[in-house]
Amino acid sequence: MRTWLVGVSAVALAGFASAKATDQDYPLRCGDLFGFTSAVPKGRADADQLDTSLNAKYWDTLGPTATPSMFNAMARSATSEGARRADEITSWGPDGPMAQEVFEAAKAAIAAHLRTDAGLSTELSGLMAEQLKGVTLIQTAEDYVGSYISHERRKGNATGEPELTVQAYRSYQSSCGRNGLKPNAFFALGSVVLCPGLALGLHDFDASRADAMDAMAYTLGHELGHAIDSSVWPQAYAGMAACYRSITQVTYIWEPGLADEITADHWGALVLARRLRARPAGPPSPEQVVKIIAYATDGYDAPQSSTHPPSQFRVNQTIARHPDMVGLLGCPGAGEPNPTCTLRGRLPTTASG
Ligand SMILES: [Zn+2]
Repeated sequence: MRTWLVGVSAVALAGFASAKATDQDYPLRCGDLFGFTSAVPKGRADADQLDTSLNAKYWDTLGPTATPSMFNAMARSATSEGARRADEITSWGPDGPMAQEVFEAAKAAIAAHLRTDAGLSTELSGLMAEQLKGVTLIQTAEDYVGSYISHERRKGNATGEPELTVQAYRSYQSSCGRNGLKPNAFFALGSVVLCPGLALGLHDFDASRADAMDAMAYTLGHELGHAIDSSVWPQAYAGMAACYRSITQVTYIWEPGLADEITADHWGALVLARRLRARPAGPPSPEQVVKIIAYATDGYDAPQSSTHPPSQFRVNQTIARHPDMVGLLGCPGAGEPNPTCTLRGRLPTTASG
């Protein structure tokens, strides 16, 4: 979760991503995957209903004169009830072992790739793998608040306990919502923080358990990617930066913030593709892959957020053109007019995806 400059020409990038043509023989999704993922129907009934009922039960009763301690007690109750109810509804998460398992597998997939990426020196990949190893998963508001406070105390922050706790809850709620029910995750304090609303949102889509876990893996892979993104290891992404600058002809494409998100998406796509390929019954059909990417990138079709690159660009370029993803989508391999950017730079033309 990072912010980048608002107002830079998102339109130019979106236009770039959707105007890319592919060979006539390939399915339309290869030219504009976003057009397909944004058309997949996605419900929001359970999450909205639960959020509304928790707002009425808790937040609507909190008056303007509430003290920090009153706010903290309410935030604790609302987020813990939100997590418990989300868990009951989904029955497969997020507090169960499932998210943890998906997280560990995502971490292992990225670590394994780091060792073999031709764009990285042995030394650099070792350092990045080491950094990745230390990332933990936080699944509850209370754990996040505890981690936030100890982090601040280590920095020497002497703010009183109730006030600092308010700050911690507000920080959590800015990404996860008041009751933790936003379908979101974020990277902070050296941890990936998973909002209970993410699993609930996937459940709302009527996704199968396997599809939901794979979609969640994309998000966890993206957030894990922030531990080693271009803001942390710019030298690891020099080739990718040159590739994106050259294919988009947009110099600000690699501005801080924007580049971090593109590199995080790169890792998310890698994690998702590896999971899809490793399914016991073999990889799903390209049509099913489109659906899973739609679940994984839910929210990308919302009006352009100020914190991420344009949705079309993320889906059509960084995800759809990921070297591990093109084959799953039944799309053409690297080449004109289908550029693929990797850590070692632009991939040379390949025969097929
Ligand atoms: Zn991100």
